[in-house]
Amino acid sequence: MITTPYSFVATTHAVRMGSLEPVFVDIRRSDLNIDPDLIEAAITPRTSAIVAVHCYGNPCDVEAIEAIAARHGLKVIYDAAHAFGVRRHGRSVLSYGDFATLSFHATKAFNTFEGGAVVAGSAAGKEAVDSFRNFGIADEVSIPFIGTNAKMSEFNAALGVVQLRHFEPVRQARKRVDTLYREALAGTAGIECLPIPEGVEPNYSYFPIFVTGDFAVDRDGLYARLKAEGIYARRYFYPLLSSLPMYGGLPSAAAANLPVATTAAEQILCLPIFPEMSDSDLERVLSVVRGAFD
Ligand SMILES: *Cc1c(COP(=O)(O)O)cnc(C)c1O
Repeated sequence: MITTPYSFVATTHAVRMGSLEPVFVDIRRSDLNIDPDLIEAAITPRTSAIVAVHCYGNPCDVEAIEAIAARHGLKVIYDAAHAFGVRRHGRSVLSYGDFATLSFHATKAFNTFEGGAVVAGSAAGKEAVDSFRNFGIADEVSIPFIGTNAKMSEFNAALGVVQLRHFEPVRQARKRVDTLYREALAGTAGIECLPIPEGVEPNYSYFPIFVTGDFAVDRDGLYARLKAEGIYARRYFYPLLSSLPMYGGLPSAAAANLPVATTAAEQILCLPIFPEMSDSDLERVLSVVRGAFD
């Protein structure tokens, strides 16, 4: 399976737990998603699927990925854990691919405390997921698949139903913080915000910045300064999945094969963003960033 090294560990673990071999392909700096221009060179007769991640909710280049998949007869699975509510030219980003998987973990834009969902691109795909999450059972007497207990509990589902109506106000509240960060950080030497791609309605659940060589300290230096002030920024995604002990030995895991991802893992810091974030919360974060130059 062709996949990205720049994600949460669940992405690659899922590939491996499906007894498949991850083949890492580098990402693009513009959106930190798998680079479609590099996918074809990694395809072999053993390749079965492309597992791409809509990183920070930024949609992958879905048209390019789907064209490649169609040419080579591959399935496309999107890890859409970050992409709840994201639209691209008015269309839900969850509607792309053979499957899109969602996380409803407490840290995500929409959550049920724990839980998730799979959006299937076809009726047959949905049937397979429905059966798989329920021990492979299709009906009272037929069990065509090997499955597991992956059902969402009623309690978690009920929480989700209650949360759903808050999603749009939460998105708008996050958007406010996102806009203020972008305005405040514009022109700060060595800090680059990730652009919002044209035609995309994000969910604003992450605020990644590149901390480059022109900044006063390196990314880990800024992380430490924030932490010393009680501000917990996250180094998503560091370390790269391709550098973990169980994947590091794969030929595709070599850092030379993944230069953009390697640099991103060293430079990206996700600043705190949450719907209730006040102007003074924001100012506390920004003053640490500015203070790094003193
Ligand atoms: C959070 C996350 C997951 C895992 O979600 P769970 O609900 O914790 O299983 C998978 N992929 C990515 C990219 C994530 O950020």
